[in-house]
Amino acid sequence: MAKRYYRPEIETLPREDFLAYQWQMLKAQVEYTYARSGLCRQQFKAAGITPDDIKTRDDFTNRVPFTTKKDLIIDQERQPPYGSRLCVPEGEIHHTYLTSGTSGKGLEVHAITEADYQFLLTVTATIYTWSGWQAGEKVMLPLPLNMNSAAPTHLGGLARLGCDVFNLGMSDTRTKLEYLKRFKITAFFATTAYLETLTSEAEAMGLDPAKDFSVRRILTGIQSYPVSFIHRMARKWNAEIYDYYGTTQWADGATCEKGAAIGDGRGHYHMLDHVAFNEVLNPDTGQPVAPGEVGELVTTPLNRKGSPYLRFRLADKVRLLPADTCDCGRPFSIVEAGTVSRYDDMMKIKGINIWPDTIDHIVFAKDEASEYKGRLYIAADGREKAEINLEFKPGVAAAVKQRLLGKIAAEIQDATEINFILKEATEPLPHSVFKVRRWTDERAKGLEGKGGA
Ligand SMILES: [Zn+2]
Repeated sequence: MAKRYYRPEIETLPREDFLAYQWQMLKAQVEYTYARSGLCRQQFKAAGITPDDIKTRDDFTNRVPFTTKKDLIIDQERQPPYGSRLCVPEGEIHHTYLTSGTSGKGLEVHAITEADYQFLLTVTATIYTWSGWQAGEKVMLPLPLNMNSAAPTHLGGLARLGCDVFNLGMSDTRTKLEYLKRFKITAFFATTAYLETLTSEAEAMGLDPAKDFSVRRILTGIQSYPVSFIHRMARKWNAEIYDYYGTTQWADGATCEKGAAIGDGRGHYHMLDHVAFNEVLNPDTGQPVAPGEVGELVTTPLNRKGSPYLRFRLADKVRLLPADTCDCGRPFSIVEAGTVSRYDDMMKIKGINIWPDTIDHIVFAKDEASEYKGRLYIAADGREKAEINLEFKPGVAAAVKQRLLGKIAAEIQDATEINFILKEATEPLPHSVFKVRRWTDERAKGLEGKGGA
């Protein structure tokens, strides 16, 4: 299989040579961040260290303090709007990105310089190159342009590769499908849930994706999925399926030429370790996990100028695989594809980060509400749905219940930009004085084979 390297001078290095190169970048990033970031100096002071104490990788792993989302939020609240971690004058900021989600936990502010932006385009260009996108490829990009980093960096990366981009992020699914057909678009990106939606909607329109479209390759990402989903989509679209993992904090990984499924098994993400120093750690001990084990992904962006930080805890749970799992030769660390989950309660619904306590605050502000149960699933029409079954206290009149269901749905929509289905619970719900798990995620199940090719 022909190798599709984007930066062959790095992607073909022997692993030992790559690790030496990466260490030089990491060391430089520690020095840069310490010299310019108030947050970093404060963290090092608390830990009683300076960059001179970080002479080896082990020093880095054992001595450099973690940075959490909370640290970033507190930092930017103390010194608005960018926080003391801003390492350049405001006039040198090229883009400002916010993490997605509108929950009470706050949004991280990321200042991106021109150099940072160009570096980020190498990330998306790399992911698309590995997935087979080429100059002249007609590409649908369904990402809405907003404060998140995804749309501008995908668009810029595709432009760099010389692709012909159709920006359909603001169009409905039907319009997207019409463009796919009319312009004989050959490739697109879609989250796994949205790929399911596109497929179902095409079939509802009487279209056969394999025959009526010209799509040869699909990049999916963001959500976990069963392997059968990849095979089913490959059959339905007669296309190669690739997958990637990406974060606003610069931890990224993607499947190589082998794709999202390898035979009956899962593909794997080659982490872009030349973009960020990625560690997979036991969240309790902070020590690296052994290959084959799951742990928390902790990332340190490399070569980042605007608002860098060291050792950011992503709370993403990943399975680390041995570095020689794939024979494509890339020297990067490897993580299992399609099984990333969360250590905290954060839910990703339609690509937006939502914490259950955002919903809790709205529901339990109503005196009539007693308890609720939430459910995420893929409906028969392929759409991702979020449903809340609400239990009322005894004695609430039917008319009041109806009004409240509508009011809660509207408030949640305002707070999250997501349309939740609100229903009255049909059976008594469990109540607990301890931490209640109110949400079940059945989306991966919904992506499993629904019979037929
Ligand atoms: Zn590979």
